[in-house]
Amino acid sequence: MSQPKSLSVLLLNLFSQKYPAIGESHGLSVVAGALRESFGDELAELYVMDMVAQGNESLDQAVRMIRENGVNVLVVGVPYGTYQILADHFAELQESISGRDALVVFGGALPTYLGSRILKEISREAFIIQGEAEAALPLLIKAWSCGGDTASIPNLLHLDPESGEEVWHPRRLVNLDDHGLPYRDHLPGIHQVGGQIFVETSRGCSWSSCTFCLRGLTDISGRSTEYRRRSPDLVLQDISTLLDLGISEVTFADEDFLGTSLDEVEEFVRALAPRLPGSMDFGASCTVHSVYSRRDDKETDQRRQELLQLLVKSGLKRVFLGVESCSPSQLKRYAKGHTREESLLAMRRLQELGVRVEVGVILLDPLCTLDEVEESLEFMSETGMVQVASGLSNELRLQNSSTYLRMVHRYQQENSVTLINGEMDADTLSFPYRFADSRVGELSRQVSKWSARVHPVYYPAKNLSRFGKAGVLRASEAGLALRAEIEEFRLQYAKATVAAIQELRRDGDPGPVLGRIIQPSLARLASQLQSALLSADESVRNHPVVLRALADSRNLPPEAP
Ligand code: SF4
Repeated sequence: MSQPKSLSVLLLNLFSQKYPAIGESHGLSVVAGALRESFGDELAELYVMDMVAQGNESLDQAVRMIRENGVNVLVVGVPYGTYQILADHFAELQESISGRDALVVFGGALPTYLGSRILKEISREAFIIQGEAEAALPLLIKAWSCGGDTASIPNLLHLDPESGEEVWHPRRLVNLDDHGLPYRDHLPGIHQVGGQIFVETSRGCSWSSCTFCLRGLTDISGRSTEYRRRSPDLVLQDISTLLDLGISEVTFADEDFLGTSLDEVEEFVRALAPRLPGSMDFGASCTVHSVYSRRDDKETDQRRQELLQLLVKSGLKRVFLGVESCSPSQLKRYAKGHTREESLLAMRRLQELGVRVEVGVILLDPLCTLDEVEESLEFMSETGMVQVASGLSNELRLQNSSTYLRMVHRYQQENSVTLINGEMDADTLSFPYRFADSRVGELSRQVSKWSARVHPVYYPAKNLSRFGKAGVLRASEAGLALRAEIEEFRLQYAKATVAAIQELRRDGDPGPVLGRIIQPSLARLASQLQSALLSADESVRNHPVVLRALADSRNLPPEAP
């Protein structure tokens, strides 16, 4: 091996305006923490640039940083929505390191699935990290710096320098306790503008069966056995660092916070919750069954309730539940495993404990019927679930490698029809499709016209008011009024969609029906969003995401689309 090169490393995570949230990209913090753990003081120059936190697609700042600091290791995180941004701007990044002996690495959601394409279309010299990067990246940088061999490093994909052939390294999952704590030095700036800060206690999903879900970023086989937890001691150390930085509200980044058997969850929660600092509030994503299960006997149900009570006592304030549908047949197609009654009881159990609940909904899928959509919306409207439903016009993403994609292929074969009608979109890893039921297709077309107008107002309204005392819009009067307006908007949106379905059944035009209900409701939401944004702190008001949301909420066209 040769003398190690001196290192100047930039970790850069890209941002897309299609997902306008303000917050930490936790994967970036995790990877930066792993580098620090592995290199210690040897790595004097480590720069972390989170474009999601800055709400900025432009890479000018990164180019400047590379030039000014002689960066020779460039690691680019490419999350959903950013493939085209990478394709359009990589030349600028490359230009800024040209003439230097440099290592370029791509990682994150899109490189995990599109590694070959990135090597072909964007950079033939780069290394791709597929899936988790904590183990692979430090080893790769060390090998590059010392001229060592990369053959034994897991999760890599690259081109052989001589033959130009792709070299695929075996995938391996990391142990969450082996790679140090996340890097936190860059968080004060994100916290100052009320950005969402994440803590990770587990990785993977103990259910892992939903047909639409793409599991390959943090899993290899996509099975429940790949679910892993971090030790409570490390979680507490991370939280203590955050408290020292003045951060007292976090979201657990876990897909399945209370995953695995109740015995294991109890052990984990009892080791963690009583030691959480009293001043810390947190939110988490849970499966319905980890909150309520019809299969629990009385004693198990009691234990589950007590765990939730303990968590609430320790600061649990918000829970996202992956409900997805309240139509029994649609739930079956999604393989959610829970019933709509269980979803309702889980939601109520949490609400009775004072937890703010948000539920995920996938309203339309390629094989759904109007009856399913209607019964789902009606159940949610009758039970109060619709007011806390995160997205009421969501259509299933027909993602590459998902079980649902195979179901559609089978449907096409069995019915001699073509539903998938285009190439995979690299930004979302999804295929475009038409609906099996043409009337659902018409509903989708009509609703989509509105979605394009609703999205720039509703999405920031929801994301910026999502969390409480330290969120972008904090728990101000205007922020709370915005939350109430969002709930009313969801109710009206569901009402409009049901009315449109009934109009379609009469062979009528659903457009005017949707407009009559959505237009005034959207105008009220936009006006409330403006008030909330204008009442935010000055540092928040100048954030690009906030400025865009303000402009979009002021520029709503008066006529229907
Ligand atoms: S959608 Fe959620 S519950 Fe279903 S497999 Fe994916 S992570 Fe697990």
